[in-house]
Amino acid sequence: MSAFLKTSSYAKINWTLDVLFKREDGYHELRTIYQTISIKDELRFSETSGAIEIHCDDSRVPCDATNLVYKAAMALRDSTKTSKGVRIEIDKRIPVAAGLGGGSSNAAVTLLALIKLWQIEIDQSELIRIAASLGSDVPFFLIGGTALGVGRGEEVYPLEEASCDDLLLANPGFAVPTHEAYKKLSRLTRPEAASIIPFSLMAAKGIRELPLAARNELEEPVLAAYPEIAEVKRRLLSLGARHALMSGSGATVFGVFDNSQVAGRALSELRASGYWAECARTVDRQEYHATIFQ
Ligand code: ATP
Repeated sequence: MSAFLKTSSYAKINWTLDVLFKREDGYHELRTIYQTISIKDELRFSETSGAIEIHCDDSRVPCDATNLVYKAAMALRDSTKTSKGVRIEIDKRIPVAAGLGGGSSNAAVTLLALIKLWQIEIDQSELIRIAASLGSDVPFFLIGGTALGVGRGEEVYPLEEASCDDLLLANPGFAVPTHEAYKKLSRLTRPEAASIIPFSLMAAKGIRELPLAARNELEEPVLAAYPEIAEVKRRLLSLGARHALMSGSGATVFGVFDNSQVAGRALSELRASGYWAECARTVDRQEYHATIFQ
């Protein structure tokens, strides 16, 4: 019988996101604090004699060569010169193009799963190189937990874990294309890249005391362009969130609550208003690695 693997592919939020300047290669120089959370897709892998096939229960996700999971499998095959194939089934629970890194997480989990399934050896540095070539957020999902992202986000450093049991995530149900969010930035204030690192580290330490100076510099222009997202943030705060911030390039906003009753009531209210909403908690690095493979 051929090999089979079942995996969890977790979403992320950004506790903070600073956009420093536009680089010569066209990417923006970022400082961000990533956090894996309990909302997750399930990916199942079974070996084939050579074909790479993708199946997904969400019609918004392409199942062709543009799927990040497909690209991950091809890149790993090219790098390790294996001719093995795989059938990958994706059960999507992470909203698509919502600032929660679903595609990036799927890609990273695919790399980790195929190393096992195909029984191949690869240097850690080559694995990180492949992950970064797939997307800026992909290397983060190789480590998970709370981590600082530098460069275009692809250079990641583990941080002391931040934890929150009562997060509530909500979005108005439409996607904000990442490039559009960056285009809306009118003012990039800090060319001195190094100076923002101490801020990010301070912010990481202070996450338990939110709200602190935690900010997402994409939030203001995106909220100005999409009043529906501003309304989600306003609702989260009025329903009892101690802190609410857009994740990544949106449209999802996360709220930090002090207890699960208040978060649960807010969840019902937001769903009744027609929003996508889900309660979640942080997933630390140890749990992340212990539970990727089910
Ligand atoms: P990020 O925060 O990393 O920018 P996101 O959470 O905003 O990402 P994704 O859910 O990763 O966005 O989806 C971005 C785009 O990638 C979508 O338009 C989707 O069509 C495409 N895509 C390719 N592969 C996948 C996948 N496996 N899962 C979800 N989307 C995928």
